[in-house]
Amino acid sequence: MPSPVMPTSRQGGAALSSVAVSAVGMRKSYGDKLVLDGIDLRIPAGSVFALLGPNGAGKTTAVKILSTLITADAGDLRVGGHDLAVDPQAVRAAIGVTGQFSAVDGLITGEENMLLMADLHHLPRAEGRRVAAELLERFDLTEAAKKPAQSYSGGMKRRLDLAMTLVGNPRIIFLDEPTTGLDPRSRHTMWGIIRGLVADGVTVFLTTQYLEEADELADRIAVLNNGKIAAEGSAEELKRLIPGGHVRLRFTDPAAYRSATTTLREATADDEALTLQLPSDGSQRELRSILDWLDTAGIEADELTVHTPDLDDVFFALTDKTDNADQSKETAR
Ligand code: ADP
Repeated sequence: MPSPVMPTSRQGGAALSSVAVSAVGMRKSYGDKLVLDGIDLRIPAGSVFALLGPNGAGKTTAVKILSTLITADAGDLRVGGHDLAVDPQAVRAAIGVTGQFSAVDGLITGEENMLLMADLHHLPRAEGRRVAAELLERFDLTEAAKKPAQSYSGGMKRRLDLAMTLVGNPRIIFLDEPTTGLDPRSRHTMWGIIRGLVADGVTVFLTTQYLEEADELADRIAVLNNGKIAAEGSAEELKRLIPGGHVRLRFTDPAAYRSATTTLREATADDEALTLQLPSDGSQRELRSILDWLDTAGIEADELTVHTPDLDDVFFALTDKTDNADQSKETAR
């Protein structure tokens, strides 16, 4: 179903209406612990935004603020075109939230959970039944619908949780670590579901510890560290921020390895693994010149592999080695 991306903002302006979430100077402390130190975010409608960060970085805090569960200490915050400080009720009507602690009631069936949500949204009975059945079908839960939700697997519970969120037909969805603890198959299923939502024009605000997840899903990624956005951009842009691309040559013959190390002085050598590492952007042009050069020097490696930096490299380069939770006192000073 192609849908308009956002309700037109009452504050007016085409630019505003195409921004689903915007934050300028979002701040939050718990006591003397500064968690968010003036965060700026701008999420276009219909896109997937991923907030990445180590444990304790403040990801959940940001989601809780933007979904009206807690208030910020400062900042100009708008969600769905509505000012959080002025009209939190309108924000609530525009969004859906699924958290790490699911809203699913295990004692009742999946279907009953869905109908309860339909009641909460004041849907007429028949309409509620129709929406519940449709969503259960879409999330592959029809067969399990009459079973108590506590008998569901982790992946099924997450799907039910998201299905419940969609009863209200939100245009902006906050997904706080939607695949934490799921097995790879369930994770891929959830990714497919998220892509389907985006295809329907829904804006997704995702927090995750899985870099692969951000890489797979997100149009833009922000890395949160010690209360600040350490970097923001597409996965490709973030990867370009850090060096680390290289070509690795592996030898099995120690004599060939030794002759290569004396010839390729700028390479980083690993005497134990018999490998040499050459900086490279992985482009065809660079690879060809490396190969030509090896031929000219009469060096024959047993294996040549190209490594481009991945989001893990970015994450390690941009965030602290220690847990952010331990550091937040430092930040507060
Ligand atoms: P993340 O989601 O990135 O793991 P959180 O937003 O949950 O991080 O937490 C950020 C920091 O704020 C952590 O140091 C956490 O201990 C602290 N914190 C979170 N909620 C509270 C609270 N209600 N009271 C005090 N400190 C809190």
